[in-house]
Amino acid sequence: MALYVKVDRDTCIGCGACGAVAPDIFDYDERGISFSLLDFNEGTMPVSEDLVDDLEDACDGCPTNSIKVEEEPFAASLKDEAV
Ligand code: SF4
Repeated sequence: MALYVKVDRDTCIGCGACGAVAPDIFDYDERGISFSLLDFNEGTMPVSEDLVDDLEDACDGCPTNSIKVEEEPFAASLKDEAV
């Protein structure tokens, strides 16, 4: 089962928790807001198996529930601002 991830950058508060537990998935823009490194937050590239545990840790630790995970690629219409 493939998983896809993107950050809701409207609700992310830039706390830094996700990048601490999943540095291969998340990075921060110049404002400190998180985005997925995998595909510049488009949510279209599957998360590799070896990163799934990190992803789950990041989801569990996000205080604003801003990390969105789906079993299908996120639709282009749901893309948010470019990173
Ligand atoms: S853990 Fe959540 S609120 Fe904190 S930086 Fe990551 S996405 Fe944003």
